Amino acid sequence: MAGTLLGRHPASPLLVPTPFARFAATCDALRQLDGRNAKREGAAELLAAVDRDERAPTARFLAGQTLSPLDERDLNVGSSVLADAAGEGQTPLFGGEATIADVARVVDGLADVSGTGSGQRRSALLGGLLGRLDEDEQAWLRALFLGELRTGVQEGLVLDAIAEAADEDAEIVRRAHQLRGDVGEVAARALADDEPPLADVDLELGRPLGPMLAEKAEDLETALAEAGPRAFVEPKLDGARIQIHRRGEDVRVFSRRLTEVTDSLPEAREVGDQLDAEQALAVGEVYAVDEDGRPRPFPDLMRRFRREHERRASRAEVPVAIRLFDLLHVDGTTLIDDALTERRARLEELAPEDLLTPAVQTSRLAEAETVYDQAQGEGHEGVMVKAAESTYEPGRRGRSWLKVKPAETLDLIVLGAEWGHGRRSEWLSNYHLGVRVPDDQRDLLQEPSQPGQDPVTRREGHAMVGKTFKGLTDEQFGWMTDRLQELAETEHGWGVEVAPSLVVEVTFEAVQDSSKYRSGHALRFARITAIRDDKPVRGAATVADVAATGGPR
Ligand code: AMP
Repeated sequence: MAGTLLGRHPASPLLVPTPFARFAATCDALRQLDGRNAKREGAAELLAAVDRDERAPTARFLAGQTLSPLDERDLNVGSSVLADAAGEGQTPLFGGEATIADVARVVDGLADVSGTGSGQRRSALLGGLLGRLDEDEQAWLRALFLGELRTGVQEGLVLDAIAEAADEDAEIVRRAHQLRGDVGEVAARALADDEPPLADVDLELGRPLGPMLAEKAEDLETALAEAGPRAFVEPKLDGARIQIHRRGEDVRVFSRRLTEVTDSLPEAREVGDQLDAEQALAVGEVYAVDEDGRPRPFPDLMRRFRREHERRASRAEVPVAIRLFDLLHVDGTTLIDDALTERRARLEELAPEDLLTPAVQTSRLAEAETVYDQAQGEGHEGVMVKAAESTYEPGRRGRSWLKVKPAETLDLIVLGAEWGHGRRSEWLSNYHLGVRVPDDQRDLLQEPSQPGQDPVTRREGHAMVGKTFKGLTDEQFGWMTDRLQELAETEHGWGVEVAPSLVVEVTFEAVQDSSKYRSGHALRFARITAIRDDKPVRGAATVADVAATGGPR
């Protein structure tokens, strides 16, 4: 290649890294701006301006992500590491020296730190970076690491901003994101001149895809009416979602959170081996079973997925069953845009019958009820009702899949309460709901990914699972306010932390995974249905009870 002053790629733009100050200024502006359009334009402007290598990190940073969601490394940077790092260097008078590329490099370096002395090495790495940022930039860097950007910009908006910056159709950008799972990669591809068109992006075997999720329906009748003619009615199995990727001999298995679980689940690899195709991506559920094949509670299954340094339950201790319910790719053909009827037919062609989730196609309530009763009788949660014509939408919770199951209720402990707003400003009216964490369930806890978010989650022996201000009458709000002030242990501007003493009965729609709470779970649409001051705290739900409660995982 002819040497030029510009280097090996004469056509590529000169490398001009963008000061991190520009990211900080954009965030400042985004926080002030009102409305989706204005924010989208603000974000698009930055994406269009940054250097080629900075597009991926910039898109992630704007979405409040440090690493790609597909990156299995942990950053482990919380407020204490940040505080130590701040002590390492001096705040420079000017700052403004570090670029977005520099920050991305440090993030990558932090993700590589492990082993003894890692806390110190993290602080040193961060200290070096902080020393090149002024105070305002440092504040934005901290907010980025703590998940507290609060610019009102979510992933969906970043995708729209990428579309605008790249002059690309927003739907094509969204679809590419569904298939690749990382706003960073989508930004890099969309904005590059020398990449194949974004519309050609396909799924890749060996790389996990976001799960399509279900909405809750009132009851079977409404679900059937909404799903349209000849809907698929299937048992909703109470386990964990898996996706099995097969490329010839190579089979890899991923969890709902997109982490690889091949080694924890040899049974799933064997399922992959049994598929009658060279290449396939099949989706299903794994659940723990007893000797009779009846489902066992969800926490039993989790014992199979413990981290390496903890003792992981063996195959013999916790046997599992696997049932497949979808097929997204087979031998070079991606099926996500095909109707469920077609995907299911292809799945039935290549998987042995005993590996399939049973499915009945029907429009008749009586038939659907039979599936529901049978599912519950077998110890499953309820049913899924899926529109026959629906395509597979990775990473989306939509109404093409509807779940029908009994409403859930738990007795929870009030661990704190926030002063209300407006009409409720005189009352402690937003309640922090918690569960008990007996010593033998401590291994169910996790470190929140956003440390310092919720002081109450750090209370020994208890963990939060949600907040709610719904369900109580004015009189009850008054009563709760008095009682919680009596129980207050720590007062904050926002409200109080209280001694764990008051139990409330809470109904909710589902339990979701949560990286915000140490319990690892958050209740969806929680509502207090009764104040149970007659109940002792030792009768309240435990973290295992919440984990065992049906709901999205
Ligand atoms: P949800 O998480 O409540 O939105 O429901 C979707 C979850 O239910 C999926 O992530 C699966 O893990 C699980 N599930 C259990 N049985 C089925 C089924 N027959 N079809 C689809 N998902 C199922």
